[in-house]
Amino acid sequence: MDPVYLDYNATAPIRPEALEAYLGVCSDPANASSVYQHGRRARKIVEVARASVAALAGVAPEQVVFNSGATEANNTVFSQLRKEHIAVSADSHPSVTDALEKPVLLPVGRDGRIDTQAFADQIMQTPPPVMISIPWVNNETGVIHPVEDLARSARRRGVSVHIDAAQAPGRIPSEYLSSVMQSGLIDFLTLSGHKIGGPMGTGALILGSCTSPPVMLYGGGQEKGARSGTENVPAIAGFGAAARALMAAEPEEAERLQVLRDRMEQALIKRSPELVFIGKGVPRAPNTSFFALPGIPSQTLLMALDLDGISVSNGSACSSGTVKSSRVLKAAGYDETIAGSALRISTGWHTAPDDIDRFLESWEKLYTRIRHKIIPTEDL
Ligand code: PMP
Repeated sequence: MDPVYLDYNATAPIRPEALEAYLGVCSDPANASSVYQHGRRARKIVEVARASVAALAGVAPEQVVFNSGATEANNTVFSQLRKEHIAVSADSHPSVTDALEKPVLLPVGRDGRIDTQAFADQIMQTPPPVMISIPWVNNETGVIHPVEDLARSARRRGVSVHIDAAQAPGRIPSEYLSSVMQSGLIDFLTLSGHKIGGPMGTGALILGSCTSPPVMLYGGGQEKGARSGTENVPAIAGFGAAARALMAAEPEEAERLQVLRDRMEQALIKRSPELVFIGKGVPRAPNTSFFALPGIPSQTLLMALDLDGISVSNGSACSSGTVKSSRVLKAAGYDETIAGSALRISTGWHTAPDDIDRFLESWEKLYTRIRHKIIPTEDL
């Protein structure tokens, strides 16, 4: 039996349209800066992809700077601001928090949502922060932050706004994403190719209302000087195709995933009433479910499911390949009993009802084996 993949927030399998576009360019000598035929063809491919990514974000093509992914986009935004007073949501990705010397962390509540009062207090400081940074959709919990309202209050105080939207497309409607970008409230928006079914190693920094782009990589002056380095034309072509495929699948894809997710959660709650779900009562991505089985280490859950051919995560993908406690749950004030026992199921374009059924079957076996070790919620 094929293994079941339920970790789309870590990376999505490449969409067929993106793979075709990617492979279509791979064997070409395609340096988009060259002036002869091959180069001109590559340039055209890059500009078609740029128009597609721009359409996804609701901006003009000139506002899209291609790069290697969301990590680079986030680092680029802060490359000249490392030491500045920047307030970031405490559930931000490490490519935001670790790019800054002393980020001011804006607390998130136990529901995973940013604490709007603490945010307002921070913005009203004198002087206010230079910039705020918020992940639109949290990668672990799937919780959607009220970005439009937050950006509006920040801009009123003259504070620049960076939004990490690596997990946003497909999780929030692109029509809404576009309308927020068009409102002019956002200075910088981060996108990632592989989170939307494009190839890995590509992404974009969208220049919203900022006047001059931040530059981290200097050299050949590609991307109008905003990001030097020969463009990764095959990956960019795939990113553009993934953006088009994602938009073409709206809103059905998200609706389908929400139905699958809700059915799965109902079955889980019925079988395992001890489960603590995070973010269930607030707006969250239709493809994500994040929960903890108090006192049972995430590692135990992940390994047992893996042995059964189910690939899921506890949310905090770590380069060392080890399982760590959820950073986001710790930031939200949970202790190790919950933060060390989390499991994230995240689905996407290729997830079928059968994948959820197989997960539930496997969960049933696992739960029966370990239920006596669960710490009752009243003891927490
Ligand atoms: N930001 C967020 C919110 C993410 O979820 C991720 C990937 N986990 C990143 C940034 C980094 O993305 P990339 O792999 O494209 O560098």
